[in-house]
Amino acid sequence: MKHIAVIGAGTMGNGIAHVFAQSGFEVTLIDVQEAALARALKTIEKNLDRLIKKEKISEAEKSATLNRIATSTELAAGVAQAELVVEAATERTDLKLQIFQQIDAAAPEHCILASNTSSISITKIAAATKRPDQVIGMHFMNPVPIMKLVEVIRGFSTSDKTCAAVMELSQQLGKIPVEVNDYPGFVANRILMPMINEAIITLHEGVAKVEAIDTVMKLGMAHPMGPLQLADFIGLDVCLSILEVLHTGLGNPKYAPCPLLVNMVTAGHLGAKSGQGFYVHTPGSKDWVVSPSFT
Ligand code: NAD
Repeated sequence: MKHIAVIGAGTMGNGIAHVFAQSGFEVTLIDVQEAALARALKTIEKNLDRLIKKEKISEAEKSATLNRIATSTELAAGVAQAELVVEAATERTDLKLQIFQQIDAAAPEHCILASNTSSISITKIAAATKRPDQVIGMHFMNPVPIMKLVEVIRGFSTSDKTCAAVMELSQQLGKIPVEVNDYPGFVANRILMPMINEAIITLHEGVAKVEAIDTVMKLGMAHPMGPLQLADFIGLDVCLSILEVLHTGLGNPKYAPCPLLVNMVTAGHLGAKSGQGFYVHTPGSKDWVVSPSFT
């Protein structure tokens, strides 16, 4: 494979485009917003500069990587040469189904269609196309250039050939792919989200305060971040929507989102992206200051 198209130039899309381009692939990064494409290129450049500072790449490698990234706001034209499309657009089922129908109509017949979705069924996305055997989940972790894991999700109809190609490709990126089946939350979020939800329930029931909960998990379990810090970093709206997928998809009350999480999202306290969650987030500051709602 040589030509890759990445759809969506947000948090994940810029990282995915970065790692493919740095590994020698020709990448077309596609977004509906010109501004998102410009922001993504800036972020990629900044991240490459960081690698130069750490003496991991040279100036020449930076230029070559940037030269391998083209941008487009035209989905059909952007995927016309692609051998693999990785979709990393906004996490909405209706939007993803529509995007996959468009890619299916415009991409070459042999092209593999992958989604970076955190929680939407790969089988459902595949069913919107005429090539469900060539549709697969390629779940990169944030930040993509740093995190080693790719959770490779086999939909009900994904072929062995498609899965083998994506496993091999992930290795070419220097990642470690792990194959899992398509059930709600896959593996990563099936295990992570109930832990985050339980941390919020623990806070809600007054068992311990924000910092105490995070400190127990950091020092006691060697987690690099506490679960409430991680929830703020992921986005509380994202956590809520994944818990809703688990709750509805598996039908077990143990996945019901904590009412405190629901209230915080309703009030617009979404974590780092909104400036306030369990902690207050000030741009440029690396301190973790507990939100006044919880002191
Ligand atoms: P984001 O909001 O940062 O970026 C989404 C981008 O998609 C935006 O730039 C938006 O303009 C673009 N977009 C929307 N509709 C489009 C369309 N029709 N065509 C092209 N582009 C379109 O979102 P994100 O955090 O990068 O998440 C993207 C995907 O990755 C989601 O499926 C999410 O579940 C998944 N994911 C996110 C994380 C994370 O930590 N943020 C981790 C793993 C997986």
